[in-house]
Amino acid sequence: MRYNKLGKTGYEVGVMGIGGIPIQRVGQEAAAEVIATALEYGVNFLDTARGYTDSEEKFGLALQGVRERFVLATKTPSRDGEGARRDLETSLRMLRTDYIDLYQLHNVSTKDDLERILAPGGALEAVLKAQEEGLVRHIGVTGHNDKVLLEAVETGLFATVQAPVNAVERQFIPVLQAAKERNMGTIAMKPLAGGSFMHPQLALRQLLAEPLLDVIIPGVDSAEQMRQNAELAANWRPLNEEERPLLEQEVAELGRGFCRRCEYCLPCPQGIKIPQVFILEGYATRYNLAEWAVGRYAAMDKDASDCAECGICESRCPYSLPIRDMLKRAHGHLRQ
Ligand code: SF4
Ligand code: SF4
Repeated sequence: MRYNKLGKTGYEVGVMGIGGIPIQRVGQEAAAEVIATALEYGVNFLDTARGYTDSEEKFGLALQGVRERFVLATKTPSRDGEGARRDLETSLRMLRTDYIDLYQLHNVSTKDDLERILAPGGALEAVLKAQEEGLVRHIGVTGHNDKVLLEAVETGLFATVQAPVNAVERQFIPVLQAAKERNMGTIAMKPLAGGSFMHPQLALRQLLAEPLLDVIIPGVDSAEQMRQNAELAANWRPLNEEERPLLEQEVAELGRGFCRRCEYCLPCPQGIKIPQVFILEGYATRYNLAEWAVGRYAAMDKDASDCAECGICESRCPYSLPIRDMLKRAHGHLRQ
């Protein structure tokens, strides 16, 4: 596997890392197997977050005795200093460690978010203090809005930036360029666009060729997934002439009405979990998991048929998606 220097942090990280979201839906044993497999293949970057329920706790247990072999990254969603400190202390406890290699300010996606974390008494001030105390080695920023993230990068205050980058989301490339000009580390979250690709291996291989990226972090919830990802990175080869058009066709299809799971549309006054509806629709229509997805959809408190067509969600969606029409389509795919 290729190893890259994670910008000014100086860490040498395998280009294939571990995304910590999906471990929430599996047990402790799976977390232990993911870590054991990662070690076997030389995967050494692990990204989790305070916001991923028990992800930190599971990885914390799984990392006992081998923590030093990983560059451990987690995040705080807090905007104020007090909340960030509290989150950090909880993360340290959950992860069973004395320090975090990379502590990131999570989902800084509006100008207001950025102003609040940078303000006196804001989250960054508290994290800088924690850095002086040795609890945090480096500080990064993550987000889902390219313009806000670019502004964050341009402050020069962060060692790394994490953005959703994949075959369909190319708008973050200028953010990565700006980060590289400042010797920052670059991390691609959602490399599979939240599980949207029919040919995930092609999508990952294309991303592994991106020179602006230091590490990509597909979500992993099993040893088998970890193995597949690690082997893909170890045996990487560029897409050939037959594979390229397959991915291009998929990108073109996804480009129309494709939800990126950024959650800006929330909250819906009717309580509809809009992105979850589209995730389930994707499972039903693209992954041959119709029965499972229909069951999950039936268990939702509010489903797409509860939409009152107020249009608030559409005014918030950064991708100008026709959410109301998409919900009707999803309901058609998911109702029992
Ligand atoms: S249009 Fe429907 S889904 Fe969108 S915010 Fe209004 S009620 Fe919710
Ligand atoms: S519908 Fe739009 S705003 Fe909502 S999660 Fe999807 S992409 Fe984001």
